Amino acid sequence: MHNIIALGTQGIKNGRGGSTAFLLNTHHAIDAGNIILPLGEKCTSLHHIWLTHTHLDHIADIGYMVDDYHAYRTKTLTIHALPETIRVLQEHFFNNTIWPDFSKIPLSNHTDMTLTYAPISLHTPYPIGEKSTIQAFESDHTIACCGYMITKENSSLLISSDTHSLTSVVSMIEKYPHINAMIIECSFPSEMHTLATLSKHLTPALLFAGLDIIKERGLQLYINHIKPAYYSEVSEELQIFNKEWHPTILKDGDTILF
Ligand SMILES: [Zn+2]
Ligand SMILES: [Zn+2]
Repeated sequence: MHNIIALGTQGIKNGRGGSTAFLLNTHHAIDAGNIILPLGEKCTSLHHIWLTHTHLDHIADIGYMVDDYHAYRTKTLTIHALPETIRVLQEHFFNNTIWPDFSKIPLSNHTDMTLTYAPISLHTPYPIGEKSTIQAFESDHTIACCGYMITKENSSLLISSDTHSLTSVVSMIEKYPHINAMIIECSFPSEMHTLATLSKHLTPALLFAGLDIIKERGLQLYINHIKPAYYSEVSEELQIFNKEWHPTILKDGDTILF
């Protein structure tokens, strides 16, 4: 069995928990919604962030990762993302107005810069350590966004990221029989269908309708990105589907097996 750690699992940050971030291994993470609080100084060992999209609940801690502990960071932080995601980060976040352009600021006592960008292509596996790869696939959100499949040896874990449609999740699962676990977002209760559609997120009703076609596959289903204000409604609704799917709602710090 392989595993990753959920550093932040909520649909937004509040006093009880953080927003999306997954620690893949010592040097790699997906998204940076909650890095500083759980990792502290250890975040200086994180050298690669694989971004899904530029919404604040997924990028906020990149700003702090390159600033906090700057003196201790010995290696450039590489942001791997879709070209459009990188363009938005450069124009609207690390633009010397919202936050300094750390791609022009060297590491202390070093000529390498603090931050760099690496554009990725969909459906291309990239190495992330011994016998492990990461591969992006399309997601259906209000801006450029991708999910990721992490593969180690012969098993894979799929992470949907923020999405409204599950079409590409289902086609990935149909294409790769070694996917044995998936983390799917579920932001709002089913009665908030209109807002979920406008903001391109999922509700329990949409989630299970979308997954119906792969019901027989026996995949382990983990849920993240519930908006904390609706936690009790969403978790009660997920219980209704418990007999078929046994979904596990992730908490910050959880280990996810695959
Ligand atoms: Zn989003
Ligand atoms: Zn989000």
